[in-house]
Amino acid sequence: MTPRAWALLTLGGLVVALLVAVALLVPWSRPPAPRADQLAALRDLPAEQVTRGRAFHGALRPAAWSALAVGLVVALLLGLTPLGGRLVELAGRPFGGHWIAQAVLGGLAVMFLADLLTLPFAAWRRTVLVRYGLSTQTWGGWAVDLLKSYAVSAVIGALVLLGFYTVVRLAPRWWWAFGAAGAAVLVVVLSFVLPVLVEPVFNRFTPMEPGPLRSELTAMAARDGVPVRDVLVADASRRTSAVNAYVSGLGPTRRVVVYDTLLREAESAEVTSVVAHELGHAKDRDVWTGTVLGALGAAAAVVALYLIGSWTPLLRLAGVDSIAQPRAFPLLIVLVTVAGLLSTPVQALVSRRIEARADAHALALTGDPATFEAMQRRLAGVNLADPDPPRWERLWSATHPSTVERMAAARAYARESGR
Ligand SMILES: [Zn+2]
Repeated sequence: MTPRAWALLTLGGLVVALLVAVALLVPWSRPPAPRADQLAALRDLPAEQVTRGRAFHGALRPAAWSALAVGLVVALLLGLTPLGGRLVELAGRPFGGHWIAQAVLGGLAVMFLADLLTLPFAAWRRTVLVRYGLSTQTWGGWAVDLLKSYAVSAVIGALVLLGFYTVVRLAPRWWWAFGAAGAAVLVVVLSFVLPVLVEPVFNRFTPMEPGPLRSELTAMAARDGVPVRDVLVADASRRTSAVNAYVSGLGPTRRVVVYDTLLREAESAEVTSVVAHELGHAKDRDVWTGTVLGALGAAAAVVALYLIGSWTPLLRLAGVDSIAQPRAFPLLIVLVTVAGLLSTPVQALVSRRIEARADAHALALTGDPATFEAMQRRLAGVNLADPDPPRWERLWSATHPSTVERMAAARAYARESGR
């Protein structure tokens, strides 16, 4: 068999594995909360809060869609014309066109050009956040955050580019196999190290201070059978007034993190409700689920890139002989960008299902739907959520059930459990 035939076979295997993992690991069976309950919940929210949430999201929308459009146009222009290849060459020229310079500097130049051109939209977004009182950052703090995120992307990007083009040179016929394995391993490694290497670049994390709330949370985690070494508090208030909590990391790096803003804004019982949701993620191993799906998806993407990248008309458009040259990196980026856009609604759907399961866990663990609902109202109020966003927007990118869906789930639970 030729490497190409092996690649087709591998891709088939990976796609089947991905579909099986999606079918088995994602909770598909839970029906969404009845729409009648959702509409009743919407009517119970203060009209002023609903209007303000909708206005805020309406104000954010033009910047978000413009950034998406500009990013796509830049990727298409660089990837499907010889322009991108020339940019890669230009970046490598001071180093005599050495392949390492082309691969790393050229690759980073292509990656950052789109970031640079969408920068005005990021600034626009910030002005909306400031206008609505959600940002607590100065322009200076905002710029520092931006530079930090560029630095993190540059370090990870340079390592990936160097690794990828080294493998391509060492194994010109089989690079896709090593690339697929490498991409899968990278996803797993990043899940482990992000909370300890990357998150501290942006926030300071301190263990929650001893007191009744901390004891309550630790006791609840023990009752739930989810050993939590520590609940960490992130100094989110340095950039936002929004409230949130999350779990990240795997095994020894797993942590439950709450924003300091949440502790300041919410009642203790509501914090407990939020942490109960996060314990649901820990108990159901949702970080593992995300990592496994991400690793399979990344491996399949590398093999698919190899197969699509040998299509001559595409190579001719980009003015390159092979997808494996550093000069063809912009073509890779355009393929990845399009694949990312197509998979956005699928990823959002999977995420919404997993979040709904964590909500159900929180309700069962606390047995307190009233507080759960109060917490959802507060979350929506403080974060200026649109409690019932337009359907197309929800299908396109909502990673969580809407506020009214979550309130309705609490009401359905209350009915069923007689609370
Ligand atoms: Zn969650």
